Amino acid sequence: MTADENLSNWDAVNDSININESIYEHPCLTKVLNEVLALNDNLVDKTINQFSGNTDYKLTFTIGECNGNPACTNGENIDTTGEITIKISDTNLNSIDLATHILHEGIHAEIFRYVNEHHNGNVDPNDKPQLFEYYKYYKLAVENHHIDHPYMTQYYITPMARALRKLDNYQYPLNYYKVFSWDGLRNFDPNNSLGNIDEQYGQYCNTVVENFNIDCNE
Ligand SMILES: [Zn+2]
Repeated sequence: MTADENLSNWDAVNDSININESIYEHPCLTKVLNEVLALNDNLVDKTINQFSGNTDYKLTFTIGECNGNPACTNGENIDTTGEITIKISDTNLNSIDLATHILHEGIHAEIFRYVNEHHNGNVDPNDKPQLFEYYKYYKLAVENHHIDHPYMTQYYITPMARALRKLDNYQYPLNYYKVFSWDGLRNFDPNNSLGNIDEQYGQYCNTVVENFNIDCNE
């Protein structure tokens, strides 16, 4: 079975997650997205796959512009139509960077859904109390996409690294994957809790990029 067929089958049984056909013009992206969606992983279950079978929402993956960023998530219509769109802008990224961006934007999508549920009075604040602390703190900047990042920095570095490691068939220790989950969060790290990337992590990064289990060059 090809990646395309596999993804189509998957799509058909999950009405709430939609793959725009523009994605299929990019074989590496198609392959990576397919593998992320099929990954039996706690982070994916709690973010992207929250939308699976949830008829209140519609999560779409598509190709689109992101103001110079490689990927972005648009949730501006969530309270009226339930639509959330994850856009991939840079389709030339290597496979692990594509996977990282899909996981990162999937977290944004879930935070959009969660905050919307809160607006609708459907959420127990004790469920994710820390999110509400950050949400209150940043509510003046609620239009700003970046309000989520301090929360993501605190809670998702390790789960993202674990998901990437699983996608890579556990080839290397967890630290090798943390450099990827840090990407995109570093600029929003208020207390520099991530530290700086040292030479060691640069090496980890090169090693994983060269040998990542999802091979787009075969
Ligand atoms: Zn982001």
